[in-house]
Amino acid sequence: MLAYLETFGCQANERDSETIQGMLQQMGYEMTHEPSLAQLILFNTCSIREKAEQKVFSRLGTLKKLKEEKPGLIIGLCGCMAQEKDMIPQLRRRCPYVDLVIGTHRLHRLPAMIRNIQGGLGFQSDIAETCEIIEDLPAIRPFPFKALINITYGCNNFCTYCIVPYVRGRERSRSLEAILEESRRRVAEGALEIMYLGQNVNAYGRDLEDSRASFDRLLQEADKLDGLQRIRYMTSHPRDFKESMIDTIAASSKISHHFHLPVQSGSDTILQRMNRGYTRERYLELVHSIRNKIPNATLTTDIIVGFPGETEADFMDTLHLAETVVYDAAFTFMYSPRQGTPAASMPDQIPLKEKKERLHQLMETQAAISLKRHQAMQGQTVQVLAETYSSGILTGRSEGSQLVHFPGPENGAGKFYCVKITEPQTFLLKGEIL
Ligand code: SF4
Repeated sequence: MLAYLETFGCQANERDSETIQGMLQQMGYEMTHEPSLAQLILFNTCSIREKAEQKVFSRLGTLKKLKEEKPGLIIGLCGCMAQEKDMIPQLRRRCPYVDLVIGTHRLHRLPAMIRNIQGGLGFQSDIAETCEIIEDLPAIRPFPFKALINITYGCNNFCTYCIVPYVRGRERSRSLEAILEESRRRVAEGALEIMYLGQNVNAYGRDLEDSRASFDRLLQEADKLDGLQRIRYMTSHPRDFKESMIDTIAASSKISHHFHLPVQSGSDTILQRMNRGYTRERYLELVHSIRNKIPNATLTTDIIVGFPGETEADFMDTLHLAETVVYDAAFTFMYSPRQGTPAASMPDQIPLKEKKERLHQLMETQAAISLKRHQAMQGQTVQVLAETYSSGILTGRSEGSQLVHFPGPENGAGKFYCVKITEPQTFLLKGEIL
């Protein structure tokens, strides 16, 4: 039996897809890259932006004919879209040939639901919200040298534009022991790098009775693991980034000096409307402290332009903040209303034309800053963990999480290299092995 799985969105979904593949393998499925050959097709979806959702609907649309030709084909939807309010009736109406909808809290039930469909029980859905964390589900790891490890699920922040708390539920932390045990196991299996995942990693442990469980503590314990060479994490919330964490990172030779601090806006008015919980000043203090304690830190961010009510002056505040911080890179987005979030019904929605103009201006400004930052690295040496190989070129990430391309051997992925930067570009660094 062959299964096709397509993953949309963030690393949390990528990690869930590892588990989905592990469960499918135990059921006897092999994975294929060709949907037309598969007996089971799953989409692990993202609902952070409307565009991502439209893409999934369009992909589902292309499967209608295939389903008519192969009535035994099972088509399923998992991930954040599955968890959205009213998604099941919408899917039943628009794509009645979808057989299975499984929510983000219920992944462990996937094999039973597939068996039910195979046994003729028809459409299956389970989107129940639970607080339970199921440990030790099987997983297939596409990159054995790189371990994605969940530390928290869900989010309590309710930023007014974001759908995550509604589709991923409230914040739930795994126990410190479970995370460290998984970390030890993955390192023993050959992982050189660990990426700890959560919607707000800095909040790790807040919901646990164990007073020892904090993100700081987790990093300190992971830092002691023999054989582990690099620790990364995603995503930080600037409000919860404590001074002690900067100290822990500064004192470690394994924890990446990359700080991804999503600012979203440089205007206090907009930050407040977004419910971000920090001011521009507080954010800049955090940046100052990081740069002060870790001079070689790389800083990246996420920025939304065109949030409801954003004036030209608010946008200028954002532009100036980007220039003040001098980010190495910024992921920039136009505000896209998500149904069910408070911002979607706020007054003063910004016209698309204006949003596009602001986005363009911000991207141009940031591109010039990124290029300058990268040019300053000409001739420097960085440590790169190569992840992929294609046509003579290895691609990996530096300790500052910059994308680096360099010529290398075909079997070179999964190893660290000292790379001298010879050709810095806006979005990547080119170099050669020393
Ligand atoms: S912190 Fe805000 S933006 Fe991030 S997942 Fe939580 S609600 Fe969404």
